[in-house]
Amino acid sequence: MESLSFERGEAPRSSSLPDRKVSGILNPGSSHGGEAPVIVIGAGFAGASAALTLADAGRPVLLLEAAKAPGGRARSFPDPRSGRELDWGPHLFMKANPALREFLGRIGASASLRFEPSLDLTYRLADGAARGGVRNERLSFPARGGAPASLLALLRWRGPRLAARLSIARGLRRVLKEGPPAVESPAAESKNAGETVEQMLDRLGQGASEREWFWEPFSGAVLNMPAGEGSGELLRRVMCEAFGPGLAGASLGAPAEALGPFWADRALDAIRRAGGEVKMAAPVRRIRIEGGAVRGVTLSGGESIEASVVIAAVPPPALLRLLPAEAFGGKSPWRDLGRLRSASIATAYLWLDHPCPGPAYEALVAERWEWLFRPGAGGLKAGDLRTGEKEPDAPVAFLCGGADSLASAPRSEIESAAREAAGRLLPDFGLRRVLVVRERAATWANGAGEQAHRTAAETPVDGLILAGDWTATGLPATCEGAVRSGFRAAEAAQDPKGG
Ligand SMILES: Cc1cc2nc3c(=O)[nH]c(=O)nc-3n(C[C@H](O)[C@H](O)[C@H](O)COP(=O)(O)OP(=O)(O)OC[C@H]3O[C@@H](n4cnc5c(N)ncnc54)[C@H](O)[C@@H]3O)c2cc1C
Repeated sequence: MESLSFERGEAPRSSSLPDRKVSGILNPGSSHGGEAPVIVIGAGFAGASAALTLADAGRPVLLLEAAKAPGGRARSFPDPRSGRELDWGPHLFMKANPALREFLGRIGASASLRFEPSLDLTYRLADGAARGGVRNERLSFPARGGAPASLLALLRWRGPRLAARLSIARGLRRVLKEGPPAVESPAAESKNAGETVEQMLDRLGQGASEREWFWEPFSGAVLNMPAGEGSGELLRRVMCEAFGPGLAGASLGAPAEALGPFWADRALDAIRRAGGEVKMAAPVRRIRIEGGAVRGVTLSGGESIEASVVIAAVPPPALLRLLPAEAFGGKSPWRDLGRLRSASIATAYLWLDHPCPGPAYEALVAERWEWLFRPGAGGLKAGDLRTGEKEPDAPVAFLCGGADSLASAPRSEIESAAREAAGRLLPDFGLRRVLVVRERAATWANGAGEQAHRTAAETPVDGLILAGDWTATGLPATCEGAVRSGFRAAEAAQDPKGG
């Protein structure tokens, strides 16, 4: 069996997209009657959604990305050994992700993302008493039928014991009754400001079993943090957006393609079609600021591009490197950004000796690994056990995240944990190959104590606008949060004050 690992930056980037040279990059306003472009830095979800919105509105826009391929943290890369395009980490989306779904619609990616009619989750757990040593339990809510139908679904679920299932229903009802935090920046005014997920669950009277089967898979996926640190208010907002209008909003979907072809390549094509310019492998070294206003950017190659509006859609450490400290006389308005913390996510791709059919994703109970994915099965029904047969050579993937999790362990430990878990959770399969990828800064600013330090799109610098999943969206660092921030940044850029 072969095993291999990649850390961030080591893995080959997707080469599927040509590194198209943009004519007139040093004079990019030439195609728009001399109007200087809005420069967007970073082709992740935030930057791409901002750039597309501006291009669609007829504004000249230049998107600059440091990497050779787009997508940021939601990217994929070619695995030379298998010839497959693999995600830097498999992603799950929620039906109640309106901005993300609007953006995917605009770039023509909607058909590759299929949602279940309602929340439909399969759990897998090692159980010596079960046949084959593995138990699968399915929690499948009906799309219609209201509270009585949902209660029936909970009663039918053979996961935790009955008392725990009823307690989950009570806890969920209370969260929905409390409603989402009143303000976009949760820590500012709300009654339960600063509450951790653990404190929230204590307040809701949720016991160990309720947490293990329901709250932890949900909050882990949403916040990528242990319950003792994650923001209860962020979780509450997501729960209210997901479950508030009915159970359909909480249904999950995984893309049917790898992330690059699924959204990032399509987004760049859409931006170009709308008249925007895109430059890959173009790292920005500095945002030029003079007299309290943006003047343009300097690329790492030394070239300068003039602009009066710049949208910086990069994570906090990259942003701090872009801002010239001298422009603020030593008193940077962003000195608190250092308080925002990141958390890692690790994925172990496992090539098995024969096909492993099943749903596109399963929650793992009482394991160091939190999810099992079947990449490529996302376009098919979760209940369809033939999904893994669509591509017999496709790997399955274990995923885990969080600062105190296996994802932060030494790589040798991650690999051996993957082999050990495969032996227990997939006991009928031989392991042909393991490939571990890890993003150390997968998510940002989801902690209870960090919400007050997330910043708005608008800044004290004329023409400088911020975007990214870590900005003050009121949501956790997710693709939905990133796209909302991108839309807002584009709106601010079209404001006559230019942000
Ligand atoms: C393994 C993993 C699994 C995840 N799972 C989920 C999930 O299931 N659901 C979900 O909603 N979210 C998930 N996320 C989080 C999600 O991917 C992020 O919230 C989202 O992609 C962030 O987008 P962004 O545009 O804010 O930032 P980024 O994606 O980080 O984009 C920033 C871009 O800026 C570029 N850049 C940086 N510096 C410069 C510079 N100087 N010049 C030019 N360009 C620069 C970077 O190369 C990058 O492309 C996951 C993340 C990871 C890593």
